[in-house]
Amino acid sequence: MRPEKVWRAALGELQLQVSRSTFDTWLRNTRLVSFEDGEYIVGVENGFARDWLDARMRTTIERTVAGIIGGPAKVSFVLWQHKPEPAATETPLLTASLATKAVRQKSSRAPGYSFDNFVVGPGSRMAHAAALTVAEAPLPGHNPLVIYGDVGLGKTHLLCATAHLCARAGRSALLITAEDFTNELVSAIRGHTTESFREKYRTVEVLLVDDIQFFVGKKSSSEEFLHTLNALYSPSHQVMLSCDQAPESLAALGRRLCSRLSAGLAVEITAPDAGARAEILRTKAAAFTEPIPDEVITFMAENVGGHVRALEGALHRLVARARVFGTPIDTSSASDALCQSDPINDPVPSDRVIAEVAGRFGITQRELCGKGRARRVAVPRHLAMHILREQGNRSLAEIGELLGGRDHSTVRHGCERAVSLLSRDDTLRSHAAFLRERLSRST
Ligand code: ADP
Ligand code: MG
Repeated sequence: MRPEKVWRAALGELQLQVSRSTFDTWLRNTRLVSFEDGEYIVGVENGFARDWLDARMRTTIERTVAGIIGGPAKVSFVLWQHKPEPAATETPLLTASLATKAVRQKSSRAPGYSFDNFVVGPGSRMAHAAALTVAEAPLPGHNPLVIYGDVGLGKTHLLCATAHLCARAGRSALLITAEDFTNELVSAIRGHTTESFREKYRTVEVLLVDDIQFFVGKKSSSEEFLHTLNALYSPSHQVMLSCDQAPESLAALGRRLCSRLSAGLAVEITAPDAGARAEILRTKAAAFTEPIPDEVITFMAENVGGHVRALEGALHRLVARARVFGTPIDTSSASDALCQSDPINDPVPSDRVIAEVAGRFGITQRELCGKGRARRVAVPRHLAMHILREQGNRSLAEIGELLGGRDHSTVRHGCERAVSLLSRDDTLRSHAAFLRERLSRST
């Protein structure tokens, strides 16, 4: 039998031997890349999957292949979607001492986010598996683990779930947003307490930092963060991070930090498909006392695309309307709820953001969205990108579309420029504060 055929047959048998999620996560996307000296060399998507298969499934797989070919079999795993090698990184500076037990959890941020209520779909399978593995034990060679992807896809949810599980297992875990890390550092510097700040962050067993794109343009906090990563770069420690883009595209964080991040494992999380969206809705619907018929769930899953947050917003509106107006929860009221916007949770409409920004800087909306690159129009445009991005529900591509058909990398660059200017330009900062204040009012 040809080796490719042997591997296909082995996959077929393994599918029956292991659970569906194990098969989908680790085996479905593998392929035989070569057959050398009687050894089946199987390609897998990333180093994490390679190590996992090697440590936990090789014996089973070899036994299965042996059964098919009727003799002993040897199987090994290699990376198959070849990514560029990460740049050389500095050697770790120090090994952290034993940590004080500490778990910080912002309850407002983490209303019961756990692995149990995280729905695994094709777009989140690998991220979920990686988080779960990290929650069990540090993953040497995959430090830091970076979960990246667009807003509202469950990054914070996974970080919280991991922190909870680590804490339950008695490991010290610290979860913080990059923004809070920055603020805490600033007060530590002011209050001359940087030593205790360092002690806290450089000794914890598991450090989880959410939204590290926030470090862009913040020189001292990204520097401090790099030293923190170095301190925790040891087999007994684990760092898990989330970011709205792939670490290698965060060049604005500086070469050393960027290369430290790229030396870990980056796993992308992508939008759920309709099946996963329906499952997520079912999980969220269980929190309400009102029963939500399955046809309503399916209807919503099919009609609200993209982000989970938008899906959740629609569900909340539907239930709120049922409570207030006594309307039945059916596909017709669901359809109404989908057309309505929610003045509290919905972001400010983009045309209002554009009008306010243009007005504040005394330029026309046409200039703001136009091709001009003079500073008087380019800086307001960067700020508009940043403000639209901050509201958290639009992708870079959507923002580009709103601002005159620019592509996502232009928007990313614009946002980075805005962040960097805001960190050193007081006038721009006061414009931004004024705009945020105005936009936060309902009309
Ligand atoms: P991100 O941090 O990526 O912007 P969040 O983790 O804040 O996204 O997720 C937004 C909302 O969507 C949260 O309420 C979260 O529980 C929910 N959510 C996202 N993905 C999933 C999922 N796969 N299963 C269950 N809930 C999800
Ligand atoms: Mg988040």
